[in-house]
Amino acid sequence: MSRFWSAVVHGLTPYVPGEQPKIADLIKLNTNENPYPPSPKAMAAMAAAVNEALRLYPDPNADALKGAIAGFHGLKAAQVFVGNGSDEVLAFVFQGLLKHERPILFPDITYSFYPVYCGLYGVAFTKVPLDPAFRIRVADYAQPNGGVILPNPNAPTGCLLPLADIETLLRANAGSVVVVDEAYIDFGGESAAALVDRYPNLLVVQTLSKSRSLAGMRVGYALGHPELIEGLERIKNSFNSYPLDRVAQAGATAAMEDREYFDRTRGAVIASRERLAAQLATLGFEVLPSAANFVFARHPGHDAAQLAAALRERKIIVRHFKSARIEQFLRITIGTDEQCGALVTALRDIL
Ligand code: PMP
Repeated sequence: MSRFWSAVVHGLTPYVPGEQPKIADLIKLNTNENPYPPSPKAMAAMAAAVNEALRLYPDPNADALKGAIAGFHGLKAAQVFVGNGSDEVLAFVFQGLLKHERPILFPDITYSFYPVYCGLYGVAFTKVPLDPAFRIRVADYAQPNGGVILPNPNAPTGCLLPLADIETLLRANAGSVVVVDEAYIDFGGESAAALVDRYPNLLVVQTLSKSRSLAGMRVGYALGHPELIEGLERIKNSFNSYPLDRVAQAGATAAMEDREYFDRTRGAVIASRERLAAQLATLGFEVLPSAANFVFARHPGHDAAQLAAALRERKIIVRHFKSARIEQFLRITIGTDEQCGALVTALRDIL
């Protein structure tokens, strides 16, 4: 590392994303992508957007996309912010809303990007432990803070908080922003988008990477009070006024509008998850209750790292985290029934 970089850069521990292997015949159940293709209407819209207009800058306000997102959630376009994947939306949230003198709160264990952003933007934080059943206990968040952020369902556990608990959290933290990262909400939870009109301190973050099969297009968004959204726009415009390209805007707009395909594919993922969870339990795994497109499971008789390695030898990749307390768990993305079947067959062979 060059001595010309600042101490901030030297102090960073970069987030290491899940492996994206180049080998085509692997069954890839490690980064929570959707096993189904994007909506055919979204693909047609993206293909149509590859035309001579690409020489022009895209709409800096992404008005059509914001309209489609607002329409989906029953909100107004002024309550919508869009960004280049929810990771970028979250980066703006950390820079603007969560940079206070008082520490922000997030669960321990949670999405590992949060502490990375804190390191980069100099945000103080306090980690709030999960309960013994790996659940978030909302009562523990009623302490002075500069903001609260949590995924719902949580990652990588998959455990869901009911909307009533989110409301408790919002009331207990009326003086600070509560960010609910709903990357996986469409696989079994109730979105806090329904609360945006009533709580000016709420910011809901969603993505098109999971339930809309568009991880490769990088589109995410935030929903909140227009004043919170306005602040995010200012931050964004200070970096890059054009975060979403023309193709992404066209595809994301069509994907948000294709409700029928969205409901059908997420329904298929949910049904496969329930089947896989039951099969894993039959094989002796303890499977945490999941409302996401993955399951988090451990086997009392087998080491998780060894299981992950043995699966990999059989061309199946799942995610294993080395951090304490969860190092005996595997996080397995829900694939097609065929892929889940191959996983179960491989595990039967290994166990
Ligand atoms: N939040 C959580 C909890 C996630 O697991 C992910 C996906 N890794 C993201 C946000 C970011 O997703 P994306 O940037 O693809 O929208």
